[in-house]
Amino acid sequence: MDRGTRLTTDVAEAAALLRAGELVAFPTETVYGLGADARNGRAVAAVFAAKGRPEFNPLICHVATAEAAFEEVVADARARELAARFWPGPLTLVLPRRLDCRVDLLAGAGLDTLAVRVPAHPLALELLRRVDRPVAGPSANRSGSVSPTTAAHVLEGLSGRIAAVLDGGPCAVGVESTVLDLSSPRGAVLLRPGGVPAEAIEAAIGKVGRRVPASAAEATRTLRSPGMLLSHYAPALPVRLDAVDVAGEEALLAFGPAPLPGAGALWNLSPAGDLAEAAARLFAGLRWLDAEGRRLGLARIAAMPVPAAGLGVAINDRLTRAAAPRG
Ligand code: AMP
Ligand code: MG
Repeated sequence: MDRGTRLTTDVAEAAALLRAGELVAFPTETVYGLGADARNGRAVAAVFAAKGRPEFNPLICHVATAEAAFEEVVADARARELAARFWPGPLTLVLPRRLDCRVDLLAGAGLDTLAVRVPAHPLALELLRRVDRPVAGPSANRSGSVSPTTAAHVLEGLSGRIAAVLDGGPCAVGVESTVLDLSSPRGAVLLRPGGVPAEAIEAAIGKVGRRVPASAAEATRTLRSPGMLLSHYAPALPVRLDAVDVAGEEALLAFGPAPLPGAGALWNLSPAGDLAEAAARLFAGLRWLDAEGRRLGLARIAAMPVPAAGLGVAINDRLTRAAAPRG
């Protein structure tokens, strides 16, 4: 479906579109973000479709205040100190999801952690206040392209693929946010260098580990494939791919109108065979089958084939990782 993408300066209109589950690119002080209601799995799936991302990597959730962020994640003293010093600003904190976290699992790529930040841009803050829920926002470019710093850049890549671009002029910083992982008991780790220097963070909370490579070539590789930095969510039960039959000792991850009969437990990604719906239900399904399968003493999860087109590419990427031998 090719729709017109509206270029607008009307923040109320942009907020209404986001609340309705549409995609809206918006300016931040770093780059333009591709916004979606982070609590709406279908909207988050549409982000991956619009970007043409071949894999689900976790997205940064943008909120208007630290209080709003800490409604979704567990904040410790370091997180509160950094939030007080650097928010609003180009610092993203990776923290454990709260048990009552309402952000859709797909936005965090199924992980138990979530990346949150409060952007320092008046229009972004006004938008987030009006939306009044977390907005998932990777950079507003097609996968593999450079991050956009003007509304015109956004339209070059995403025109016809998103509902609107909120035009706030050129971005001031142009480099992305610093990503700091505070979720490990082993201490803070810098996952991506960015707008807030590591030294400033260390002045606030002490030494941070670097997972940032030294050489420029290595750094470029790492930044182009941020997903490689992560240990991805995988179920405890083994996963069997491309199932064309299923046993009673298996939990079935089905797709389409004809789920294989005879499974010990069933989760259908999309009875209608809709890839966006399947993407939105993927992580919840894997988690449920894993828990239910173990409760029932089942041997493994069997996954029916999912077409490798559009969002199906990312779905298959994640299923392949879930089925890979564990190290
Ligand atoms: P982008 O959306 O393009 O700005 O990239 C988001 C960055 O945040 C990537 O480097 C991700 O790997 C990182 N990120 C987001 N969520 C998490 C998370 N839960 N754990 C670790 N890194 C994350
Ligand atoms: Mg990007």
